[in-house]
Amino acid sequence: MAAMGFAKSDAQQAASQATGAGLPEETIRGQRLVRLLEIPKAELHVHLEGSIEPETLREIDPSLSLAEIEAYTKYDDFAGFLRAYVWVNKRLETPEHYAVALRRLASTLAAQGVVYAEITLSAGVILWKGQDLEAIYGALWEESQRAPIEIRWILDAIRQFGAEAARPVVEFAARARERGVVAFGIGGDEVRGPAREFAEVFREAREAGLRLTCHAGETAGPESVREALAIGAERIGHGIAAIEDEALMVELRERAIPLEVCVTSNVRTGVVATAAAHPLRRLYEAGVPVLINTDDPALFGCTLMGEYELAATLGFSETELEELAEASLRHAFAEPSRRAGG
Ligand SMILES: [Zn+2]
Repeated sequence: MAAMGFAKSDAQQAASQATGAGLPEETIRGQRLVRLLEIPKAELHVHLEGSIEPETLREIDPSLSLAEIEAYTKYDDFAGFLRAYVWVNKRLETPEHYAVALRRLASTLAAQGVVYAEITLSAGVILWKGQDLEAIYGALWEESQRAPIEIRWILDAIRQFGAEAARPVVEFAARARERGVVAFGIGGDEVRGPAREFAEVFREAREAGLRLTCHAGETAGPESVREALAIGAERIGHGIAAIEDEALMVELRERAIPLEVCVTSNVRTGVVATAAAHPLRRLYEAGVPVLINTDDPALFGCTLMGEYELAATLGFSETELEELAEASLRHAFAEPSRRAGG
């Protein structure tokens, strides 16, 4: 399941063919992407463990064959995707493995005009594996100092593991605030691990100075987004079920709470039938703040620029896409310095 080629080369190719008036639609879109590539932007919803391409996995574990990787990362629904995600996580055995993954992700993001990223680390899975979170995060923090882009971290606990398992993640995240951790979040199975059970841990995280994000309204309905808001989430991972609830969309708009939308992810996990049927455009037209993200680019075979291109096919104009890119920096949990590439 190799990732699609970066939109960069397609866009540049299209731009070089541009000759003036009467351009075919494809070429116009290509020109737009060239401009978008150069606009400094943030990636705010990407899981480190879901960004590891097969080649990097083989670098981490040379005993793996590409066929084996393909077989274990195949899925056709959300449950199958979670199994694939866990399989990749289990290949990561040392702090250096995590650092290699970060090195590859940071250079991929830099090539797409990303100047700032808030990367989600499945700290809950690291603890579940019985590994040393301090050693792994230490290696990641060190690696992020050498990265071509600015990196901050969201430490994530797994909903279906329950609130007690999330507490040590919050405690560690609070201690690591001086070393790049900006937020705490929960992800995984929102049906088996409802947000209300995490009210207390979210309160502890907020009191410790952490910002709060929450995957919700991805596989469950709008009530799951409401629960995430009720426990203090400041951004919603996915949240696309909000399209079914007019009053909820009004609340998101009025409170300026953005949805971290990942179109390809939703198609690949079967949450929406096709990209064309995705509610991204309708949410935007209802005034809900939306952000473009990749979620798990290696497992979904997508790229950030590819997701912007997809948004263009859903009806976003050049100006609107540029505004979405700018919004990505505005909705960051820390103040991006925009030092790199911008
Ligand atoms: Zn996610």
